[in-house]
Amino acid sequence: MHFIDVILPIPIQKTFTYTVTEDEANFLQKGMRVAVSFGKSKMYSALVFNIHQTKPTLYEAKEIHQILDETPLVNEQQLQHWQWISNYYMCSLGDVYRASLPSAFLLESETIINKNEAFTEEAILTDDAYLIFEALQHQSQLTIHQVAAILGKKKVMPIVNQLLKESVITIKEEIYEQYKPKLVKYVRLHPAYTSDESLNKLLEELARAKKQREAVLGFFQLSTSKKPIKAKDLETKANVSSTILKSLVAKNIFEFYHIQIDRIQFKGATNDLKILNEYQTKTLSEIKESFNEKEVTLLHGITSSGKTEVYTKLIQEVLDEEKQVLFLLPEIALTTQIITRLQFYFGEQISVFHSKYSMNERVEVWNNVLENKTKAKIILGARSSIFLPFSNLGLIVVDEEHETSYKQFEPSPRYNARDAAIVLAKIHKAKVLLGSATPSLESYFNAQQNKYGFVELNRRHGNVQMPKIELIDLKEKQRKKEMNGHFSDRLLKLIQEALDAKEQVILFQNRRGFSPVVACKTCGTSPQCPNCDVSLTYHKFKHELRCHYCNYQRAMPSSCGACGSNTLDNKGFGTEQIELELKELFPNFKIGRMDLDTTRGKHGYQKIIAAFEAREIDVLVGTQMLSKGLDFDNVSLVGVLNADSMLNFPDFRAHERAYDMMVQVSGRAGRAKKQGNVAIQTYNPYHQILQQVATTNYTEMYKEQLQERWQYKYPPYYRLIKITLKHKDYNKVDTGVQWLAKALQNSFGEYVLGPTAPAVSRIRNQYIKNIVIKIPPKQHLSITKKQLQKIKNTFEAVKDFRPIRFITDVDAY
Ligand code: ADP
Ligand code: ZN
Ligand code: ZN
Repeated sequence: MHFIDVILPIPIQKTFTYTVTEDEANFLQKGMRVAVSFGKSKMYSALVFNIHQTKPTLYEAKEIHQILDETPLVNEQQLQHWQWISNYYMCSLGDVYRASLPSAFLLESETIINKNEAFTEEAILTDDAYLIFEALQHQSQLTIHQVAAILGKKKVMPIVNQLLKESVITIKEEIYEQYKPKLVKYVRLHPAYTSDESLNKLLEELARAKKQREAVLGFFQLSTSKKPIKAKDLETKANVSSTILKSLVAKNIFEFYHIQIDRIQFKGATNDLKILNEYQTKTLSEIKESFNEKEVTLLHGITSSGKTEVYTKLIQEVLDEEKQVLFLLPEIALTTQIITRLQFYFGEQISVFHSKYSMNERVEVWNNVLENKTKAKIILGARSSIFLPFSNLGLIVVDEEHETSYKQFEPSPRYNARDAAIVLAKIHKAKVLLGSATPSLESYFNAQQNKYGFVELNRRHGNVQMPKIELIDLKEKQRKKEMNGHFSDRLLKLIQEALDAKEQVILFQNRRGFSPVVACKTCGTSPQCPNCDVSLTYHKFKHELRCHYCNYQRAMPSSCGACGSNTLDNKGFGTEQIELELKELFPNFKIGRMDLDTTRGKHGYQKIIAAFEAREIDVLVGTQMLSKGLDFDNVSLVGVLNADSMLNFPDFRAHERAYDMMVQVSGRAGRAKKQGNVAIQTYNPYHQILQQVATTNYTEMYKEQLQERWQYKYPPYYRLIKITLKHKDYNKVDTGVQWLAKALQNSFGEYVLGPTAPAVSRIRNQYIKNIVIKIPPKQHLSITKKQLQKIKNTFEAVKDFRPIRFITDVDAY
């Protein structure tokens, strides 16, 4: 008897065993997919994890439905990496499997398929495929389950896979923008016309159909090159319309077929890297030296020092060794400048991978990496690109390594891509370069402890000085009545000066959503979201109130729901409000705004950046999106409208983050030519963090924060695991969390914090409770996790607690 253990794309802890025939066992390899049924009537694409001859003892192994792959889709290194993620982040292999593969590879009985409108050539379909194609003409979508019913058979995954491959259908994906695969139509001769004899006869027959004859002759001319012939090219060559080609197809003389072309194309690489300046040259050799001893090296390089140029040299060297490179970037930075810059150097060797890409695009990148194609030598990607099927990694660059967007919070696996990348590199024996102007405390700490190598780059390219940073005291400005709306006279003066000099300005307003909350001036009540424990936010553009947690929206009421007075005040402090005030203050200049609302959609962000680059916008107002690695050469002033909202945030990293954000936005000023200006408005100009920002004193910030982390028992000294319970019944979740807190205290004593309710204690009608476990430096991490897992298992064995959602987040920050 032969068996396979498979990973199912569902959150069950263990692999599951199925039986296979001897032939199947000989054919199968780890990392191939098989279609299996699981549970009552569910069907999944499962992944082979093990092939053996040991019968499972606890259950009768079922047979598989069929094998879905000819060769492995996932390699050994990935499986090793997945096991680490599943152990470290306390999640199932199924969670990792699901997160890793594009959903086209994860067909299951509930997957919904749609027809692809671009596909019209039903003539090429097999009988089964045609039945599905036809069904989709009548019904806009089908589940795989329904497909099975239509065909009267259970084993339908390969057919659906084939249809996907040929772009006859698409998979419904709500989170991603719908994408129409790019199909190119080609022409070939019907097989009946292979002999010269039949061809001569054909041309005779067409003697009277002049246009059709020309099309056929044109086809012969083009076919001398032995390349596939595009329908469009033939039309141009023979000067015929598409109708003529269609009529030839109808006569069975021509056939159409389709080739799906890769849609991520780039032309015009130069391979012409910039010449490093002396400081960069030194940095490069220090990094290489450091790599001789250390797997991971941290590059602390100030803003505009030219870190990217240093990366490109390292990348080139790794490419010369025929190895793959993974370049990780925060999601938002990926839609813009840096891609263009790197493509300019490396051209088609780059593939880009991020969540705004459609499933088809992601499948394409996956396959290119798997086959180690030239065009996937360098992957430029957001956090999820650590899951691609690399076989030969030589280098991972983590740019802006301090960025919080490397951490995935929802859904599981709740991993940090920087940390998971370090483990991935170890598996490949590759090197890791972490780069940032404001390294995270934990990475800097690791460098100080000699765990990582450490290199500094302290000069801006071209020796441009760091911007001059001034703090503006809002309290005093209020007292002296020198405020105009949200602007101090000083900031207005600086803006005016920059604009007069034909320079551009960036104004930074902390993330949307804290305000602008609407409040009644009479009774102080704010309209609340009915599903979440949070106030609604006012959106001026549509004159409506919205919840940023569940997207609930309603028209802006004209009177207060509590007291009925007509005194609802919506003069909040969001980017929208700032934009309005600016338009009034500087009517002759173009004001732009960049926040989540203006950058929805795949290209929203790029459009604004491009307009700003082209100097079609004079003043750009935005949230922290603006700080992400952008490089503009004409910005001479950066203003921070209110630094205090960043400082007063209830999180142990608030101060570190505030420092990062302000230094990063400041870094957008004065990059190319002359020294820039930064003006920070605040009610607390003597706050130590603001002083450290004003002098760009990273080391002082680091020392002081580190001291606090030690004192209050936080990372990097103590580790954190956060547990969150959720349920729609408050009493249920409360009883559950009390039980759990006791159980945890029995094991971990004083290091259990909580239970507490988060600032927003109900979201989408689910009540939320948190417990945090701190793990002291000497306590063993894996033993702690084992104990925690045991407690969790006991919790879930209690019938009353079973419906409660139990979320474990390791390194929950
Ligand atoms: P960082 O990522 O460290 O903030 P960048 O790599 O964006 O800095 O470099 C800042 C600017 O200086 C960019 O416009 C870049 O093209 C330019 N630059 C950096 N190094 C060089 C160099 N050696 N030669 C020419 N231009 C350079
Ligand atoms: Zn009121
Ligand atoms: Zn809500």
